[in-house]
Amino acid sequence: MKISSYAALMQKKPLEPFQYESKKLGDWDIEVAITHCGICYSDVHLIDNDWGMSTYPLVPGHEIVGTITAVGGKVAGFEKGQRVGIGWQCGACLNCEMCTTGMENLCPEHRDTCVGNFGGFARSIIVDSRFAYDIPESITSEAAGPLLCGGITVYSPLRHYDVKPSHRVGVIGIGGLGHMALQFANAFGCEVTAFSSSPNKEAEAREFGAHRFIPSADPAELQKAAGSLDFIISTIHGDLNWDAYLATLRPNGKLCFVGVPDSAIAFQAFPLLFGQLSVCASVIGGRAMMKEMLGFAARHHIAPQTEVTPMEQVNEAIRKLKENRARYRIVLKN
Ligand SMILES: [Zn+2]
Ligand SMILES: [Zn+2]
Repeated sequence: MKISSYAALMQKKPLEPFQYESKKLGDWDIEVAITHCGICYSDVHLIDNDWGMSTYPLVPGHEIVGTITAVGGKVAGFEKGQRVGIGWQCGACLNCEMCTTGMENLCPEHRDTCVGNFGGFARSIIVDSRFAYDIPESITSEAAGPLLCGGITVYSPLRHYDVKPSHRVGVIGIGGLGHMALQFANAFGCEVTAFSSSPNKEAEAREFGAHRFIPSADPAELQKAAGSLDFIISTIHGDLNWDAYLATLRPNGKLCFVGVPDSAIAFQAFPLLFGQLSVCASVIGGRAMMKEMLGFAARHHIAPQTEVTPMEQVNEAIRKLKENRARYRIVLKN
């Protein structure tokens, strides 16, 4: 079967209509007619080969929602017509220590939906059903897309690093990831602080769940927040004065990266020692965490703010994202 998609044929080039011959439906596979696919900033990094891991033609897209149109012989728990979602990860060995302890995201043999595979900017896809997720009924398809990568990216560190309701959580960058992080941290019961270089995002940040807004371009405003936070999630891909952010932590506080800064992360060790601080990171989440996150989002009415665009206008959508004009997550629709 030929699959119609949009692909980058070369690094940093606009996407073009692209047809490829799909793989055969394996025993564990499902075929999914894609209705929606979110655009994540990682897709832009892949198109531009910022991480040096891209191969072309490259069909981006790893926030996939659609309807099952065929199931392989060993597939359990899924049937034709069912709505499912697929995120960044599309496979793992399922036998190693990480896989058997629910951290498939850390499997050395992890496979990624649109790295070395053709992703979700397409009419359909064949994927391993063991990395597909049922979407709770109350979550719309356009909201489900961004939860499958952006949502799990900011939910998982709150759980993995044991953030508690008594904690004060900061979120750096109020964009596609950050606006979901504010909602999750608020639903966890935390006191939530938004750091943003765009002062005009304050009203929206508060609506998403921030109790405090710090216009972070002003060093004096950052200084006022000194010693006030237990856990910070950094969602941005730019370079910041990390010493200034470490100074906003309370003793035993953690600064957690889920976005990749452009340059090496530099900071002074002394404040780290005297505050017994940690600098850490988190990458998506395992399958159990994904199911938990979707259930939590459904119960707490957590949803990304999306702009839905026809799949054909993918290049305009990418341009908007690159120019930081998306509010907050763009979802392509077939
Ligand atoms: Zn992503
Ligand atoms: Zn494994």
